[in-house]
Amino acid sequence: MNVILVGPPGAGKGTQAQRLQETYGLKHLSTGDMLRAEVAAGSAVGRQAKAIMDRGELVPDEILIKMIGERITQPDAAKGFLLDGFPRTVGQAEALDQMLAGRKVTLDHVIQLVVNNDAMVERISGRFSCKTCGAGYHDTFKKTKKPGVCDACGGTEFVRRPDDKPETVRTRLEAYDRQTAPLLPYYQAKGVLRAVDGMAAIDDVTKKLGLLLKAA
Ligand code: ADP
Ligand code: AMP
Repeated sequence: MNVILVGPPGAGKGTQAQRLQETYGLKHLSTGDMLRAEVAAGSAVGRQAKAIMDRGELVPDEILIKMIGERITQPDAAKGFLLDGFPRTVGQAEALDQMLAGRKVTLDHVIQLVVNNDAMVERISGRFSCKTCGAGYHDTFKKTKKPGVCDACGGTEFVRRPDDKPETVRTRLEAYDRQTAPLLPYYQAKGVLRAVDGMAAIDDVTKKLGLLLKAA
């Protein structure tokens, strides 16, 4: 099964993908995570992407298309992938369609997490993750069970993303509305678009996604 999660920054794509990948054996591929790894490694792509990401704008399509094209052909994505943060433009979606058609791979679901953009600034401002294992948390909506200790790995160091500042979040939300929202009619026309209420509590969103994927 191959699935795309779509929604503005803060919609819950990463949170839900972490859970779904365990239940359904899908490989979670986040282009944001891949780009942050390139930045951390100081690679040519990372150097090109860093300033753009810091401003909250989208990195050029050709970089992303090459990156995801190399990634989805790796053996660990052969049983199915769960894309988070890609595609983000119609150009990226068209390139993905071509890649999948060339490999006779079908896209089963494009799931839109439907949220109110105004609530996303609060969600993103409270987001943090474990420095050791990457597990995601929120100051209000998903605290660690024991203060200061990661539920997943027991790590005690946490990080916040530099682009999660409120002013950058607003630019990222505008980029979503202008450049990514046109994907919704694109996938609707292909008959693969499903919608799930992303404003519900985290566990309820997971349950709804589970029902949708089990029915597949
Ligand atoms: P995305 O990957 O779509 O940018 P995240 O999954 O990182 O979004 O979620 C953003 C923040 O909001 C995280 O801190 C997460 O814990 C929290 N969050 C995710 N889903 C919900 C939800 N349904 N209700 C409340 N908070 C949520
Ligand atoms: P995310 O982790 O999905 O919130 O992505 C963080 C940042 O990485 C975005 O604000 C963009 O600058 C960049 N990025 C991630 N995925 C893409 C994509 N598919 N196309 C363009 N830019 C991307």
